[in-house]
Amino acid sequence: MFNNLSDKLDKALHVLKGHGSITEVNVAETLKEVRRALLDADVNFKIAKEFTVRVKEKALGQNVLTTLQPGQLMVKIVKDELTELMGGDAAGLNLSGTPTVILMSGLQGSGKTTFSGKLANFLKTKKTKKPLLVACDVYRPAAIDQLHVVGDQLNIEVYSDKGNNDPVAIAQAGIAHAKANGHNVVIIDTAGRLAVDEAMMTEISNIHKAIEPQETLFVVDSMTGQDAVNTAKAFNDVLNFDGVILTKLDGDTRGGAAISIKSVVNKPIKFIGTGEKMEAIDIFYPARMADRILGMGDVVSLVERAQDQFDEEEARKLQKKIAKNQFGFDDFLKQIQQIKKMGNMKDLVGMIPGAGKMMKDIDIDDDAFKHIEAIIHSMTVEERTNPSIINASRKKRIGKGSGTSVTQVNQLLKQFDQMSKMMKMMQGGGGKRMMQAMKN
Ligand code: GDP
Repeated sequence: MFNNLSDKLDKALHVLKGHGSITEVNVAETLKEVRRALLDADVNFKIAKEFTVRVKEKALGQNVLTTLQPGQLMVKIVKDELTELMGGDAAGLNLSGTPTVILMSGLQGSGKTTFSGKLANFLKTKKTKKPLLVACDVYRPAAIDQLHVVGDQLNIEVYSDKGNNDPVAIAQAGIAHAKANGHNVVIIDTAGRLAVDEAMMTEISNIHKAIEPQETLFVVDSMTGQDAVNTAKAFNDVLNFDGVILTKLDGDTRGGAAISIKSVVNKPIKFIGTGEKMEAIDIFYPARMADRILGMGDVVSLVERAQDQFDEEEARKLQKKIAKNQFGFDDFLKQIQQIKKMGNMKDLVGMIPGAGKMMKDIDIDDDAFKHIEAIIHSMTVEERTNPSIINASRKKRIGKGSGTSVTQVNQLLKQFDQMSKMMKMMQGGGGKRMMQAMKN
């Protein structure tokens, strides 16, 4: 995420390292580079200029009041200003109303349908809500089918009325259906066009007026940079929406939309989409995003993602297995699958402070566990539960079956063995003993 911008800001802020104090001259030099980095990331010109003016005032004003090194002070000021620019505090959803009605708006391809599914799933799992998805795209039957596919996948009901070409009527009927069937949230997916046009604006505006939603969300593809900001402005003029959803932040996004949108439309970014899977949704926290932009990682989000995948019951079972020396390759496979659910590898590595920068030139395979999984899948049930029986001829067979080499099989067996030993040691009170030994 935002690799280029992070890199350039890092270089710009580096200028001050080694300087004993902040002066008009070195601040100007640094901020020239900061502004260039922001413009390259497709941040609106006016916003980039105002940003650097504010940072300069703060830097020169605070210089004498702090014990921080000039470089550190500048990083802190830039971080605070970036946070403020992106909205300050995280903004929640208004979930009042029985049911709560959420209207999705945005251009075609922005990720509305995908996000409707993600949000329904988020509300179901995190807020124990019973959502209903409503398909109001009357122009593309495929869009209705797509929402049904998403709904089936998530086990969330979808209301649609193929053949009816009045989106206002469908939205109203959807809400009535929700009321009659105990749904407390209704998410209405609407039709988008390839570009802003009057017919689309009139249609979404009519739906908006008729159903008076608690939340009107504008979905935008972050890859579109300044266009995203302009489209947001056009939709906001008509809908006065409540929040922005920034999708496709997992891609090679330059960052301009994330940084500019709040101050152009004065509406908060509420969620971000970070992948095509239904789990790839995050609440937008401006401060965490600023940390990530400045290459400081985002440990809080990383821990939260891990907690989301953590299942206490499973953990207890696993603990028992380890204690009884029964941890096998099937359990290992389950662990890998849990890690994979946390998100794509590049994204996860980017959340570790410093790691993103260190590993920016290393191509991290999105499917980093591909070989390990293939090797385990090529083992028999017996081999998975009791790896010690894997002799030379079995290794050969496993290598062949998984499209890997005997060396790779050996590597995995060795790693697995070391891991099992370590887990056993931690279980047997060894963890405590190790900590004690370190203290002494
Ligand atoms: P709609 O026309 O606005 O309903 O857009 P869709 O929901 O159909 O999404 C358009 C395309 O973008 C689909 O291929 C989605 O899988 C993809 N997409 C949506 N959100 C994300 C995201 O956060 N990351 C990535 N990489 N792809 C996304």
